[in-house]
Amino acid sequence: MERTMTAYRIVEWGRAPELVEVPIPSPGPGEILVEVAGNGLCHSDVGMASMPGAIGEAIGWKVPFTLGHEVGGRVAALGTGVVGIGVGDAVAVMSPRSCGRCSWCARGADNNCDDSIVGRGYGMDGGLARFMVVQSARELIPLRTLDPLVAGPLTDAGATSYHAVRRCLHRIPPAGSAVVIGAGGLGAYAVQHLRELTTAQIVVVDPSSARRDYAVELGAHHVIDGVDESTIGAVLTHLGGGADAVLDFVGIDSTIDAGLRCTGKGGAFALVGAGHGSLTGTLFDRLPRDGEVFTFQAPTIADTLDVLALADDGRLRVDVDLYPLDRVAEAYEAMERGELRGRAVVTPT
Ligand code: NAD
Ligand code: ZN
Repeated sequence: MERTMTAYRIVEWGRAPELVEVPIPSPGPGEILVEVAGNGLCHSDVGMASMPGAIGEAIGWKVPFTLGHEVGGRVAALGTGVVGIGVGDAVAVMSPRSCGRCSWCARGADNNCDDSIVGRGYGMDGGLARFMVVQSARELIPLRTLDPLVAGPLTDAGATSYHAVRRCLHRIPPAGSAVVIGAGGLGAYAVQHLRELTTAQIVVVDPSSARRDYAVELGAHHVIDGVDESTIGAVLTHLGGGADAVLDFVGIDSTIDAGLRCTGKGGAFALVGAGHGSLTGTLFDRLPRDGEVFTFQAPTIADTLDVLALADDGRLRVDVDLYPLDRVAEAYEAMERGELRGRAVVTPT
């Protein structure tokens, strides 16, 4: 076996990520070496490269680290003491890390585990390389029929949007309504989950015509070019009033403002996008009456199991745009321009 591999890494804070040669890691006790088949690109990666170093260090991230937190692959080697999984098994890797011992993990809310703050692809080595180390077998999900090449995006884009939709379900009555702001990687999966789990009228708001067309293919009932000053009126007109759920996958000032104004009485507003927008005005007047507003980070293992099972059963469309690792920068640019059709998945070179 070769000794080195190419990895796409944040080498230094404030500097664009680079393709560099690094040693192939070996798994320690209890750890697993996974050979990456495909790694999905997430918009969160883009913010990591430009994050001020002081913030990164304060939350425990260490540079250099390899990007990539949406991984499908095969088990390549087992550290001592690993049971229940074998070399060659096709797996998806849990996107957030979790310890399996704390009270959050015990309650099945492992996305809130303290270990999730530093993870593979954010603060430690992730999947934009041929191999990566996974800290425990409980963070690997065996695949039944799904090709590991396409499974990665389901662990974050698919499962994070599933977590958001599930959190809103009790607010969406039969024949209710939902608005998805930003139908990129996560938002497009949210449209599929809303179609699968509700009978809601679905309105998608996105400035990219390619993303709006794709959302319609996935089952969105109305699409709106936005967000701008006409968006709120357009949504309210389409729905004949406020929505039962609004999911914001952008999270800048204008989308939070429009999203909250489009949320009806008793409705839910889910802030998923990490645009770091702010809210001005009197909270009593701005929040949905008798409704709820929430944010969260990352899916649980249970969410990820559900989404992989839906995809394994053919009930979820899994579209990917494949890029080799040496064209990874180009793939991020296509994502930023809203030109992707599926999730960009990078294959190691
Ligand atoms: P993406 O780039 O694939 O999709 C973003 C979409 O938003 C694109 O289709 C784009 O055209 C659209 N958009 C851009 N500006 C808009 C605007 N003003 N109004 C409406 N739509 C607009 O990104 P992604 O990978 O799907 O990630 C979406 C967001 O979710 C990012 O902010 C990412 O950091 C965040 N994220 C959060 C979590 C979490 O657990 N909370 C997990 C993963 C990603
Ligand atoms: Zn992500």
